[in-house]
Amino acid sequence: TSQSSENAEVANDKLLGGLLPSGMDEASCLSRYQSFMYRKTSSFKPSTYLISKLRKYEELHKRCGPGTQPYNEALKQLKSGNETAVPTECNYVVWIFYSGLGNRILTVSAAYLYALLSNRVLLVDPGTDMTDLFCEPFPSTSWFLPQNFPLYKKFENFNQKSSRCHGFMLKKNLLNATKASTEEVPPYLYLHLGHDYNDHDKLFFCDEDQTLLNKVPWLIMRTDNYFVPSLYLIPSFEEELFKLFPEKVAIFHHLGRYLLHPTNEVWGLITRYYNAYLARADERIGIQIRTFEEGPGPFPHVNDQILSCISKEKLLPEVDKDDLSFGSSKNPRSIAVLVTSLDAGYSDSLRELYWEHPTVTGEVVGIFQPSHEGFQQSHKKNHNRKAWAEMYLLSLSDKLVTSAWSTFGYVAQGFGGLKPWILYKPEDKKTPNPACGRAMSIEPCFHAPPFWDCKAKTGIDTGKLVPHVRHCEDISWGLKVV
Ligand code: GDP
Repeated sequence: TSQSSENAEVANDKLLGGLLPSGMDEASCLSRYQSFMYRKTSSFKPSTYLISKLRKYEELHKRCGPGTQPYNEALKQLKSGNETAVPTECNYVVWIFYSGLGNRILTVSAAYLYALLSNRVLLVDPGTDMTDLFCEPFPSTSWFLPQNFPLYKKFENFNQKSSRCHGFMLKKNLLNATKASTEEVPPYLYLHLGHDYNDHDKLFFCDEDQTLLNKVPWLIMRTDNYFVPSLYLIPSFEEELFKLFPEKVAIFHHLGRYLLHPTNEVWGLITRYYNAYLARADERIGIQIRTFEEGPGPFPHVNDQILSCISKEKLLPEVDKDDLSFGSSKNPRSIAVLVTSLDAGYSDSLRELYWEHPTVTGEVVGIFQPSHEGFQQSHKKNHNRKAWAEMYLLSLSDKLVTSAWSTFGYVAQGFGGLKPWILYKPEDKKTPNPACGRAMSIEPCFHAPPFWDCKAKTGIDTGKLVPHVRHCEDISWGLKVV
């Protein structure tokens, strides 16, 4: 009957086209099964192969997660102090809590993709507030690393000179990836994949090192970078990536929406704001303003940049400065602009502009900004809740403007499936010309990719090797999937 096909459709929407597992408790994480009510159906469909891979991963995580017998077995190797690993039933990648919230959302997703590709179980260091911000993504198990994890206290001291750092061991010839098949490996390795990593750490992105790492039961990873584009350049991963993501640009779009569900506290922030200020507008525009400049804002050159971008790209109607336009409609078309910024100044100017003058189209423009926190305060709970809520709210827009270099904006564009207009990074406090440009794809940019040809053992421009991995629009040396 049409009723049951309608129900099936709603069920399919609710699970984001099969991306989400069904049957998880709804009350403890309302956002998981309510997000479809706030989002338009994505134009990117998850492949059946991806869906089956996710379901298999969920089984794996349930079988190997914290507290299970294979987990305890694998832990024994860490506790024993043995120098060399013996094969374990389950292997793990541990994500270390590190960096700003936007970065963390991207790196957890990248680490999860790496877990899928390398057949590992992902465990997330809860850090100060991961449990406060994100629900459990996998049914009947936990992805959070237990507090009594034996290496926990070492995390903050892990660095590029740690004796078990992958890059350090390569440098000191304590590991030899060319003999990967016979080489003995330790029970755990620390992977330093932060923006400041060195040429040895970067060998993570070479096939022979992956063969070596395959034998290590525990990989402990620290990164503040979305390293997915470079996974495409590892031949042993490439084919699997093609199968998982036939629409290449939707990697973070799918993985982020699959993994990262706002907790009820954050969902309250999102839904209350949306319903109060955005829901009834005819069109929603998100504008994310992030400046990386010295000194107090708002900066006049950034104000000019926003206006120039909006006008050139026709994102908002022009105002009639002569105030000669008079709307005749009692109920004009309305546009809600959601501005996010640490500074209140930019949205103040826009709000004033659209109050003081009519638009030439007769449309009305409302400007809304949920918070203006002044500066980054990543250690504060409520601050991060608001930051997460704002990234999510931006992603509910119909059109999106983001700031160059900002992972905050990448999260919004990825979740929303929106190709943003990027406000280019100003130099010398001058408005760039053009002020903004359209992104090539919705994928985030990898800010610090390696430029190394693993086979030829020489430097190479990794942004010119394959058509689907290119240099980013906002960072010329970055890489992104397009
Ligand atoms: P990135 O530095 O822009 O790449 O983004 P991150 O999210 O990694 O770090 C920036 C942090 O600054 C955020 O996590 C917030 O804590 C804060 N922040 C920056 N912009 C905003 C904003 O528009 N709204 C809120 N609430 N916080 C922001």
